[in-house]
Amino acid sequence: MKITLQLAAAKLRAADNILVTAHINPDGDAIGSTLAMLQILRTMGKNVVAYIDDKIPKNFTVMPFAEEIRQPREDEKFSADLLVVLDTSPDRIGNVKNLTDAPILNIDHHITNSGDEGDLYVDANAAATCEIIFQLCKELDAEISKNVAVCLYTGLATDTGFFNYSNTRPSTLRAAADLVEAGVEPNLISEQVEIRSFRDIQILSAALQTTKLFYGGKVAGMFIDRELYKQVETTEGLIDLIRVIDGVEVAFLLTEKERDVCRVSMRSKGVEVSSIAKRLGGGGHVRAAGCTINKNLDTSKRLLIRTIGEFMIENGYLRPLDFENREEINLADMTFADE
Ligand code: AMP
Ligand code: MN
Ligand code: MN
Repeated sequence: MKITLQLAAAKLRAADNILVTAHINPDGDAIGSTLAMLQILRTMGKNVVAYIDDKIPKNFTVMPFAEEIRQPREDEKFSADLLVVLDTSPDRIGNVKNLTDAPILNIDHHITNSGDEGDLYVDANAAATCEIIFQLCKELDAEISKNVAVCLYTGLATDTGFFNYSNTRPSTLRAAADLVEAGVEPNLISEQVEIRSFRDIQILSAALQTTKLFYGGKVAGMFIDRELYKQVETTEGLIDLIRVIDGVEVAFLLTEKERDVCRVSMRSKGVEVSSIAKRLGGGGHVRAAGCTINKNLDTSKRLLIRTIGEFMIENGYLRPLDFENREEINLADMTFADE
């Protein structure tokens, strides 16, 4: 059920033992909002723990209290009276789901979050969940310490591509300004988040070589197979290198993380990639979305390209001619052995 920010604040005030979590494959916003919540609620005198069912990428371990985020063990239980789920609907929190049966308070900025499970405060116009937590601090009369500010700023900066994307709105920049006033040094955040190993920079050339254009250059894709994936520390930021290609409306990164587990990231200049991701079981925002396809790399590739093409035709971004005249049309008629 959807609720107001005021009601979300009241639910936090009423709880004593709180478990805070965010989505698997955590990004700066998931980790930043989790760590900000952890600190804010502790300052309010609550007993709070944070769990995320994944490793915390090295670039984000610089956020204060990052070492406190636990990964649930199998069969582990935690006695909580509120489960706070951030930056996702509760179906993307992995094994954290099994830690507790506590009622769910969900705070998110994804348009695809329907609020079927638990109480949901969603603001699809907010650039990041961290922008909502910033507003929540006002609702809770919570002071924003430097440590909280660092976490919130990191989430804001990473979800907006350092304030470049279209989700950057006046209130995002006002929040960022307040956070800098609270002690954040933007250059340090950028250095820590954007740092890459020498090896990753070398491997970039191999990754870029895999880039291909589809549908008359309106779609660009980069492909990281298991071999390449094993060699890189992070694939973060790779998609930004191809979304700038002249004429490209949809860019995607297809990463084979394990056998039959292919992770898709999509970015666009306006095409609703959240709808494309949804067709493949994922979700996200209009211009940034993702999903996981549980098929091998080749099948995932064909399924993804076909789904993008079909959506673009249906919505007038592609003429059937663009579709038919290209090599990919064969995909539309193809039956996949392992489908
Ligand atoms: P990414 O490409 O991983 O940066 O993801 C882009 C956006 O899509 C983020 O806001 C994610 O939270 C969202 N997203 C990615 N994967 C999924 C998924 N499987 N289900 C729902 N939303 C997703
Ligand atoms: Mn996120
Ligand atoms: Mn987010």
